[in-house]
Amino acid sequence: MAKRDFYEILGVNRDASDEEIKKAYRKLAMKHHPDRNPDNPKAEAQFKEAKEAYEMLSDPQKRAAYDQHGHAGVDPQAQGFGGGAGGFGDAFADIFGDIFGSGGGRSNVYRGADLRYNLEITLEDAARGSETRIRIPTLAECETCNGSGAKKGTQAKTCPTCGGHGQVRLQQGFFSIQQTCPKCHGSGRYIPEPCADCHGSGRVKQHKTLSVKIPAGVDEGDRIRLSGEGEAGVNGGPAGDLYVQIHLKAHTVFQREHDDLHCEVPVSFTTTTLGGEIDVPTLDGTAHLKIPAGTQTGKVFRLRGKGVKGVRSRSHGDLLCHVTVETPVDLTERQKELLREFDEISRGNTGRHHPKAQGWMDKVKDFFSE
Ligand SMILES: [Zn+2]
Ligand SMILES: [Zn+2]
Repeated sequence: MAKRDFYEILGVNRDASDEEIKKAYRKLAMKHHPDRNPDNPKAEAQFKEAKEAYEMLSDPQKRAAYDQHGHAGVDPQAQGFGGGAGGFGDAFADIFGDIFGSGGGRSNVYRGADLRYNLEITLEDAARGSETRIRIPTLAECETCNGSGAKKGTQAKTCPTCGGHGQVRLQQGFFSIQQTCPKCHGSGRYIPEPCADCHGSGRVKQHKTLSVKIPAGVDEGDRIRLSGEGEAGVNGGPAGDLYVQIHLKAHTVFQREHDDLHCEVPVSFTTTTLGGEIDVPTLDGTAHLKIPAGTQTGKVFRLRGKGVKGVRSRSHGDLLCHVTVETPVDLTERQKELLREFDEISRGNTGRHHPKAQGWMDKVKDFFSE
């Protein structure tokens, strides 16, 4: 088939300026571009023809050769020029690069989402550290298609609408508007035969079981980061992270406040009156607590170092024992008898034995006498 004259293809005179050639090519390329003429082989042929003509005539050396020798002067086969065949080459990017975005980098690679998992653990596990297994729902890379989204034996293709850029520009009068490619929704690829398991997304919903190391001393609200255990990335992007958020279960004996532990200690009235020693619980067994004679309800005893050693702390916190004096109940006649006797012999000296009560009584008297 005889090749058409390059000037004729572009519709310009043989003495056309570079600017005129560029303008003519731009017009033709716009008209015949495959984006605007999907599945139109004739337009594609015209587009390629115009492109070839422009590539030749826009290069001063090639144009001179063509002017002198015609097609024989520039024919790749005849001259041994490398490449040039197929695809939208440099001439295209040269003029349209600014319109369709400079090629290369696809913007459709995403990092997977981070996930959060709420983990409830006991105070003991938090204080000592532990290891636990958790089962989390996540989006994992589809194993059937290795994340490509394409059916086995097939491949994703470069999106013909946007040429793989994921974005198209529409010329609307004076303005050009950039839009996400309607065919590939920005991915730059389209999958002719999607994988049946992930429906082309490349990711599937899955449960996975993970082992989580809980460092000693973690506290309510602390987060443990498991790098790369979040959702799988999109199109080869990195996976997100998994954050395990620590929640402490309510403890029957202790309340934690940072590195300190608090506990309420009911003590018999005889012990608080006479003084004595009682056993109090700690995280590592019992400890002895000396109760001085005359201890009142609300008194707090601090056992140093019997609290928790926080993740970021250098030393252990304390255990704070809040004393509650317990009024005895369900007494025998004998017990009552002894108490009555005790009361009788104490009566003359209320101010000494019960200074608080005496002080209070005095205040009440003052109140009524005013
Ligand atoms: Zn596209
Ligand atoms: Zn798949």
